[in-house]
Parts: sequence; structure tokens; C-alpha cells
Amino acid sequence: MASSTIGASNVSITAAQLAQQPNWIVVDNHVLDIAKFASIHPGGAHVFANFRAGANDATAAFFALHTTDVLRKYIPRLRVGVLEGAQANDAPSSRDFVNPVGLAPSERPGYATSPYYNASHAAFRKVVRKFTQTEIRDEALANDVTGKAPSSEMFEKLGAHGYLALRLGPSPVLAAVYPGPLPGGIKPSEYDYFHELIVAEELATLGTPGYADGIGGGLSIGLPPVAMFGTDALRRKVLPEVLSGKKKICLAISEAGAGSDVANIGCKAELSEDGRHFVVTGAKKWITNGMFADYFTTAVRTSGPGMGGITLLLIERSEGVSTRLIKSMYSSSAGTAYVLFDHVRVPVENVLGKVGQGFKCIMFNFNHERWVMCATIVAYSRVLLDEAMRWAFVRKVFGKALIEQPVIREKLANMTSRIEAAHAWVESVTFQMCQDSKAKHLAGQIALLKAHCSEVMWKCVDDAQQVLGGRGITQSGMGAKVERIAAYAKLGAILGGSEEILRDLGVREMAKETSAVNANNRVSARM
Ligand SMILES: Cc1cc2nc3c(=O)[nH]c(=O)nc-3n(C[C@H](O)[C@H](O)[C@H](O)COP(=O)(O)OP(=O)(O)OC[C@H]3O[C@@H](n4cnc5c(N)ncnc54)[C@H](O)[C@@H]3O)c2cc1C
Repeated sequence: MASSTIGASNVSITAAQLAQQPNWIVVDNHVLDIAKFASIHPGGAHVFANFRAGANDATAAFFALHTTDVLRKYIPRLRVGVLEGAQANDAPSSRDFVNPVGLAPSERPGYATSPYYNASHAAFRKVVRKFTQTEIRDEALANDVTGKAPSSEMFEKLGAHGYLALRLGPSPVLAAVYPGPLPGGIKPSEYDYFHELIVAEELATLGTPGYADGIGGGLSIGLPPVAMFGTDALRRKVLPEVLSGKKKICLAISEAGAGSDVANIGCKAELSEDGRHFVVTGAKKWITNGMFADYFTTAVRTSGPGMGGITLLLIERSEGVSTRLIKSMYSSSAGTAYVLFDHVRVPVENVLGKVGQGFKCIMFNFNHERWVMCATIVAYSRVLLDEAMRWAFVRKVFGKALIEQPVIREKLANMTSRIEAAHAWVESVTFQMCQDSKAKHLAGQIALLKAHCSEVMWKCVDDAQQVLGGRGITQSGMGAKVERIAAYAKLGAILGGSEEILRDLGVREMAKETSAVNANNRVSARM
């Protein structure tokens, strides 16, 4: 008798019974009724013609095109029994593909002991991974495909378990505003940038970039200015609401005429006659989470042109605020919005920092925002490598697995080398941030790092899609993860500072340091 516990049925099925059922096939001794599945598969019943050959044992044909994940997914829905006298395992682990090129140091060859990670990081990764896979994964996969916003229940669950607080990043502010404990029992004062790196990496493994940005992309860039520059009263009100998931926040800087050139924003804020309100009129474009945000951390123009005329204001969704969806390459789960302010009255107490000093507050946040993007982009690149490697073992073409083709191995080699180098740089910068996240030299280095990471990802997308073939550009099936991540690749190259702007910034910062050291040099003096 079979010992399996999964699936709808453990009934023992004889070869004679099997032969009488035109819609039953056998995969790894599981007897599956594919009638229902044929009706939802784009290829219909025709697809299963191959699977029916050879006394209905479809094991070889199935695993030539699928991984064990697919079998696991369908066993509960399709299994009618187990082949008589055979053993069907709950976890078909002998066929599971384990890619040694994983995210955690212990999962990467040669990284068994890393100077960067301690026992707290290893324990934290386990907790975050489990939560991501068991509590977030299902909604992420469903909503990323449909473009639906993350549910309110999800936000509140993330809040209750401390996951929204993690997106604030390590800072004295976190310890002050969030009593903890954070996931894994970590005290806010112990939470460091390697913990935050782990959060970004584990979330990326889901391969749902739009949804991942949906659950806190706005918070991670919109809330720090409130925490750092808001009045005590504002912080006491807004931080608990947002960190508990009851309210949502976003950062509204960019406009149609001011993306890279932030100092050029035109959204106007005029002081009311009684001096108690700013009246805000203007539009913001491409605002992540804007569709469902309750708060907008907004750059407004309070006086003349240039950066000196910019103020940062916290605007609550209220009369005169409206949002419209902007559809971009990745999932609308991110809630990317066009935000209109039509004579919106905002109390002067909602100024973040000082009037006319908004540009400084915006700059304050950039290093952290860009570094999070680097961590995320490299993690997505690893997922691409994982998927490409897996497929290279599964797929047989011209009678050979793809992995046996030197040209395919070269693509995997290029991906691996680029990712390992970028990851090592990310970890080096992370280490420096742990020492002093405000160190002057970091702005230029993080700018160059982000431009490098997004280029790495772009190349990895190209290689992974070539290895996956048609599946890598198909929204369902074995290449769906690669297709979803590919849709994010250009976002990585543009958001938070485009590659051109960041490379320029990186070199300008280097030139500044060089000029300072070589003060008497005539060339550097002209820079
Ligand atoms: C999906 C999505 C989400 C976003 N989320 C947010 C958000 O939450 N909040 C927010 O405020 N903004 C957000 N943005 C806006 C984003 O930050 C801007 O798109 C970005 O800053 C670039 O601005 P731009 O698109 O206007 O490009 P432009 O500034 O018009 O630049 C166009 C091109 O010219 C290049 N370029 C510009 N100046 C120079 C130069 N001096 N030298 C060389 N090349 C140059 C740029 O690199 C770019 O390639 C989002 C954008 C998208 C697409």
C-alpha cells in the first residue's frame, strides 16, 4: 500500500483500472486525473497526448518539461490514487533541484563562513524566509499576476509581526518609535543593515516585484522623512498608524517635468492668509503606492526657483487629493499613481524639517533608498540564475539537457560571475553602512553600485530569457518568474536615480575627494 498522505486520495489503483481511464496518467507513482487540468491548460487535451504513451506512465515526459514544484502544486487537486504496490512520496525530493548558488552565505559555494554575518543573521533569515513563504507568498503570486493591490489584512499582518518596521531600516529612530520585538526576537537596537539586506533578499525570492513594492515600497522611502524631520506630534500620530499597517504612505517627488532634475519641481504650496495652512496645487507622476496611500510625503515649491524654494510636506488624503493608476511594465500591485493636488489645505505643522530645506531632507533619504534597490536587484538576479540553472538541467533539446551545451554553460558562467561580484560589492557597502551610514564617501559609492547592479540585472535577464527560450517571455508556466522579474529590470535602471545620473554623481563625488586631496593641482582645481 502507498504511504502518501497528500492529495485527494490514497486509494490503491491497479494497472487494469488505469488502462480503462483515458484521462488518468501516472507521474512518480501518483495517479492523476488530468481531465480538469486539460480544460484550463492553453494547449487543452492535446498537450497530454505524449503523457498517455507508455502504459500511461508520464514520469519521463512530465519531468522533461516541469520541475517537482509543478507536481507538488497539482497533486492535491488532481490525484485520484497511487499505483498499486508502489510508493509515492509526499515530497518527491529525489527529483528536487537544489541550486547551490543560493542567497545566504551558507548556501553559496566557498562562503560557508562569511565575516559579515553572525548567528543572529542566520536565525533571522530562517524566520524571515518562513514568514515570506508561508504568510506572503500566496497573495503575492495571485496579486502580482492580476495587478490587485496588497490586501488590508496583509498590511495589518505585516505590521503585527514587525515586518513594516523592518522597512524603516536600522536607525536610532527605529528604536525610539518601535518598541519591538522585531521578527526573530531581535531588539530594534540590534537590527543592522545585514538584517535589512536579508529582508530585501528573501522578499525578492518570490519573484513578484510589483507586489513586493506594493507592500511597503512607499513606506521605506516615504516614512523615514516623517520619522527624522516631523514634529513630535506628527510622529506620534503617523508612525504607529503606518507601522501597524492601518495606514499607508508614499513619497511624492517626481513630476512630469521633474524626474532626474528634482530641483525643478513645480507643485505649488502657498501659505493661507491666516498663516495656518499651505494650499497645495500641482501633480506628481509615477508615485509608488500612491493609489492606496493615506499619506503623501510631498516635495512642494514654497518660494522661488531651484532647490532653495523646495519644502517637504506631509499631505493626508483629503478633499482635493485624487489618484489615478499609471500602468507600467511591472504589476499594478505596486499602486503606481498619478497624484493630483487641487487646492489641498495642509496644516503648517505638517512641514517636515524647515520651510525651504526640503531638498536636504530628500537627499538625506537617497543613500538608503538606493542601497535597498541594490540589495533587491542583486537578489532578483540570483533568482534569474536559479531559474536558468534549474531549466538547463530539466530541458532536453536535440536529445541532451541544455546544461550539456557549452554555449548555455557560458551564459550561466557570465551570470554567476556578474552576480557574485555585485553581491560582494553590496556586502562591502553594507558593512561600511554598519560602521557609519552617513559617511561622506558612501553617496558616490552607492550611486555607482546601483548603476552597476541594474546593469548586471539587465544582462542576467537577457541570459536567463535566452536559456528559458519561449517560456522566459511567457506570463504563465515554467518561465513566469523570469518573465515577471524581466519586467522590473528597466525600473531598476531608472527609479531612485537613473544609471546615467548615478554614474555622473559617482564620478563627481570621486572628483571632489580628489580635488580636496590635490588642492594645488590645476586640473582638479577646475572641476
Ligand atoms: C514605476 C515607477 C515608480 C516610481 N516611483 C516613484 C516614487 O515613488 N516617487 C517618486 O517621487 N518618483 C517615482 N518615480 C519616478 C522616477 O524617480 C523617475 O522616473 C526618475 O527619477 C527619472 O526621471 P524621468 O523619468 O523624468 O527621466 P528624465 O529625467 O526625463 O531623464 C530621461 C533620460 O535622460 C537621462 N538624463 C537626464 N539628465 C541627464 C544628464 N544630465 N546627463 C545624462 N543623461 C541625463 C536620464 O538618465 C534618463 O535616461 C517612479 C518611476 C517609475 C517609472
